[in-house]
Amino acid sequence: MSRYDLSRDEVGAILADVPRFRADQLWEGMYRHLAEPSEIGVLPRALRDRLRSTPELAPALQVERRVTADGGLTEKWLSLLSGGARIETVLMHHPSHSTVCVSSQAGCAMACSFCATGQAGFGRHLGVGEIVEQVVLAARSARATGRRLDNIVLMGMGEPLANYASVMGAVRRVVADLGIGARHVTISTVGVVPGIRRLASEPLQVNLAVSLHGANDELRSSLVPLGRRYPIAELVAACERYVAATRRRISFEWALIAGVNDRASDAAELAAIALPLRAHVNLIPLNPTPGYLATGTSPAGVRAFRDRLASHGANVTVRRTKGRDIDAACGQLAASPVGLAPRTAARP
Ligand code: SAH
Repeated sequence: MSRYDLSRDEVGAILADVPRFRADQLWEGMYRHLAEPSEIGVLPRALRDRLRSTPELAPALQVERRVTADGGLTEKWLSLLSGGARIETVLMHHPSHSTVCVSSQAGCAMACSFCATGQAGFGRHLGVGEIVEQVVLAARSARATGRRLDNIVLMGMGEPLANYASVMGAVRRVVADLGIGARHVTISTVGVVPGIRRLASEPLQVNLAVSLHGANDELRSSLVPLGRRYPIAELVAACERYVAATRRRISFEWALIAGVNDRASDAAELAAIALPLRAHVNLIPLNPTPGYLATGTSPAGVRAFRDRLASHGANVTVRRTKGRDIDAACGQLAASPVGLAPRTAARP
């Protein structure tokens, strides 16, 4: 339970015995000023003391460790949650914007071979407040250095569309109360087809990124086991429907693995899927993880793959790698949930 699980009415109910504007001040303090309830200066001291010991207003995240990289431009938090689960949250500052990468589950059940979270296994789903609190943590930190938090990507630990209700609850809360536009929120999925269909009917205009990594079923399923349940044809059909319903551009993520999915034939197959959807392709140089022994495509190979895709007419960019030296880059988050040891290394 987190204070960011509470609705405005629930906050009102906690303060039912004091004038109504106090609940508004508490809400404003939590969402506009990102403050601890006990530090909201406009509230009388006695009330602040009471709020400090109100169980419903306790924070859900207990930050155990904060590490930085890239000269302070990347920050990673390790947080302990109730029940002993742990998650990581990463904040990245770019010259023009700041983005937080939040976790939607402790661990992940999808078992993608090259992802450290998948190697560690599933812990539990996060609740709405546990997701919102990660955003608040990052927004506070950005503000402390004179920046503002611009973007939210659900690309941390877990599969967001496998925890649909909490993820969408958190997105609605962030959009309505933290003032971050839905167009600045990106949900990244390994390809949970029913979730993509459901997202297509949401009124919120969030961005959708689909982790593809292989453009034929055999290759994709060897990297992303869920590909056996939802073959590429079905995934592409769900993406078509999403694009038609939302008129939004989707993106495909592709972690480049040397000799595995960086061949000319891979570029051709990927372009054949991306072009009709007018999808954007985001190439991610593979980041090392303990359980996967293949190496990432070389920087020159990444450029060659990008150019090959572009020559097929695809819209493509290469994701900047941040936080590798603190294991904060894509696929490296593995705050192993208690009781779950990483699986042993597998050769691709
Ligand atoms: N479960 C969601 C979101 C989390 S991962 C999803 O799969 O999309 C965010 C992105 O990082 C995904 O595209 C994922 O495939 C990618 N990724 C995972 N492991 C990686 C690694 N070792 N190197 C580079 N990217 C990786």
